[in-house]
Amino acid sequence: MTDLKTIAAANGIANDTAFGAVTPPLYLSSNFEFRKFEHAQDYEYSRTSNPTRDLLADTLAKLEGGAGAVVTSSGMAALNLILSLVKPGDRVIAPHDCYGGTYRLLRTLSDKGHFVVEFVDQQDKDAVAATLKQRASLVMVETPSNPLMRVVDIKAIAMKAKLAKARLVVDNTFLSPALQQPIALGADFVIHSTTKYLNGHSDVVGGAVIAANSRDVDELKAWANLLGVTGSPFDSYLTLRGIRTLFPRIEQQQKTAAAVAEFLDRRAEVKAVHYPGLANHPGRELALRQQRGFGAMLSFELEGGLDAVRGFVAALKVFTLAESLGGVESLIAHPTTMTHAGMSEDARSAAGINDSLLRVSIGLEAEEDLLSDLAFSLTAASSNSAG
Ligand SMILES: *Cc1c(COP(=O)(O)O)cnc(C)c1O
Repeated sequence: MTDLKTIAAANGIANDTAFGAVTPPLYLSSNFEFRKFEHAQDYEYSRTSNPTRDLLADTLAKLEGGAGAVVTSSGMAALNLILSLVKPGDRVIAPHDCYGGTYRLLRTLSDKGHFVVEFVDQQDKDAVAATLKQRASLVMVETPSNPLMRVVDIKAIAMKAKLAKARLVVDNTFLSPALQQPIALGADFVIHSTTKYLNGHSDVVGGAVIAANSRDVDELKAWANLLGVTGSPFDSYLTLRGIRTLFPRIEQQQKTAAAVAEFLDRRAEVKAVHYPGLANHPGRELALRQQRGFGAMLSFELEGGLDAVRGFVAALKVFTLAESLGGVESLIAHPTTMTHAGMSEDARSAAGINDSLLRVSIGLEAEEDLLSDLAFSLTAASSNSAG
């Protein structure tokens, strides 16, 4: 087996038959010529298939150890595509602390009768076992979870899902295949918002579904063509370009993230830090088992509530207040007013997301610059909440 780092850096390199281009060309063309009447070539129309998008799909499938992949126009389009597999009355089981957009999509479609959704605390083994006593169609998992970095045991949930005849979908956006491969742990499908670590440069919105077996790949390709959710060639080109440096980026980012988590953990202005790499994190042992690293996402709670949050965020100079994650630049988001504003207050509090919580995505800036930005802003936050 070729090492994943080699696949990321070089899948499809130097395969150009026209000119011997080292870097795979970008085919923007929306359609492809029939060389002879009634004789289509490999490609006809780019909604259905496109060489640039196919090379990205092939790379993602190899990185995740799947049979194939469908590249979509966003992470939400990837989720929507997976939901094409369920029928009215089918049960979809999702984590109660999932990505805000996922929560909203599942809620809205289930309210319209597309399927029945049940949100469950996937940290609670008994609750998971109880929902999977009855037959289900899909079980969704996000690990580590957003924004509280809870770690879910993919292997254990895969076994329970099989007994309920359900297919297991894992959203691997927070770690990328560089740090976690859910298919090897029993998942049937992996979902990505490639907007995040895979593209990694905050200049594409995109997604993908990778399937473990080829029958599912064919079904998803047919649905993607039918619904028109496939990604654009240019976005695919940029995303593949981003993937070339996935491993060195995430390795450096998680090294800095560990230093930031430890720094925050020592500060009096901080009530709690959620990072699986910290010695006291409840998911640490499991993360060591099923991940190849702790990743570069973390969250923390400030002492002093919303006033402290306002003061802290206003003082930041190196970190940017923004919603996305996984890029080369460090970002901070406030889930209750930003990423998770679409969730009701009740649903948020059930999931443990409070007003004092901030989510951090660590980029590639120098560790010292990030730490001094945080130190300065924490001091500003505590004077803000005291005054
Ligand atoms: C961003 C994100 C999504 C949605 O992806 P888009 O590309 O924004 O549509 C889904 N799941 C997770 C975990 C995400 O972070």
